[in-house]
Amino acid sequence: MTLGTGVSPVRRRVGMVCIAVTALSIGCRAPALPREVRYAVMGAYASVIVGSRDAGKAEAYAKIAETVMREIEDELSLYRSNSVLSQLNAVAGTGSVEAGSHLRANLALARRYGDLSGGAFDVTVGPLVRLWGFSGGKTPVEVVPEAMIAAARARVGYRNIRLEDGRASLAQPGMRVDLGGIAKGYAVDVCGDLLRARGARDFTINLAGNMRCFGRPSPERSWRIGVRDPFRGEETLGMLDLADGMAVSTSGNYERFVEIDGHRYAHIIDPRTGRPVEGMAGVTVLAPTAADADALSTALFVVGVEAGAEIMGGIPRGEALFVPDRQPLEILVTRGMARMFHPRPDVADRVRVIAPRD
Ligand code: AMP
Ligand code: MG
Repeated sequence: MTLGTGVSPVRRRVGMVCIAVTALSIGCRAPALPREVRYAVMGAYASVIVGSRDAGKAEAYAKIAETVMREIEDELSLYRSNSVLSQLNAVAGTGSVEAGSHLRANLALARRYGDLSGGAFDVTVGPLVRLWGFSGGKTPVEVVPEAMIAAARARVGYRNIRLEDGRASLAQPGMRVDLGGIAKGYAVDVCGDLLRARGARDFTINLAGNMRCFGRPSPERSWRIGVRDPFRGEETLGMLDLADGMAVSTSGNYERFVEIDGHRYAHIIDPRTGRPVEGMAGVTVLAPTAADADALSTALFVVGVEAGAEIMGGIPRGEALFVPDRQPLEILVTRGMARMFHPRPDVADRVRVIAPRD
């Protein structure tokens, strides 16, 4: 009954960040390695990397991004009792809070992805997330009984979030909004847009595996990142080319998990069953914004390969890569992803394009 890795969220997430960054460096090997600056924020690590046209600006960009991310954290953290999000949860069913711009934006995105995924992505999944021992909840000593799951599920439903005249409220007592599946991607977009507005051209921002790329590392290359191999620690399954402005996000069962009776349960919950999702090891999504990629990677982790590919069909420039949690290894990719993903030579024969449904 131990918590997955027994380390803080920052430590647990660091592997994935390192991979993305290491892989980035590989993709942009000599002559001029892009400069990277890292810092800890929102319970994770963030990094900014600059390309040749923005050489020498990495520190300045990182400073701006860090300031903005801290502001977002102040508003949206579940671990701070005075954040607007914590206050919203505290008055569930009884009152409302004045929502800042970040909370308003996240709640609007949450509704959009809730609708788009048929409820698989649901930011009100908080009571279930805690019940299974995540997000500050106590690790269960046994598999959570059905009656407790049903009681928590009764308090889940993103349509019960109200946003009116700048005030947010939750219709039912005991509801809990958890933005862990989207806020980091959102933060990456806000920072990316701000830096662009200030003249930045060639850079990437990464927050816990939610990354957005602008421009290119050098005139002759595009940004490349590694997709982590869910079964082999720090190794990559392959490299992904990223066009200007595109974002990528990965949701994995290895990021955070609890162990109950020798069985591992991942931190992503299927709101429809109230249980941690099983059967998926990792999902990587490519999308036009980091908020899109973040929410969609979580949503696709829940709905699985076929329904996930269908959802991606409705996202312009959206592509996905799925790794089911079984052996032998399978890497299932949407058609466009197949063109951008360069597998490690020894797994190249494991890649299969998902056939569109008739
Ligand atoms: P990610 O790592 O982006 O896939 O987000 C996972 C986090 O999102 C979890 O740690 C929870 O905080 C939250 N979460 C879990 N299940 C869901 C879900 N079905 N919909 C939305 N957020 C979720
Ligand atoms: Mg996500």
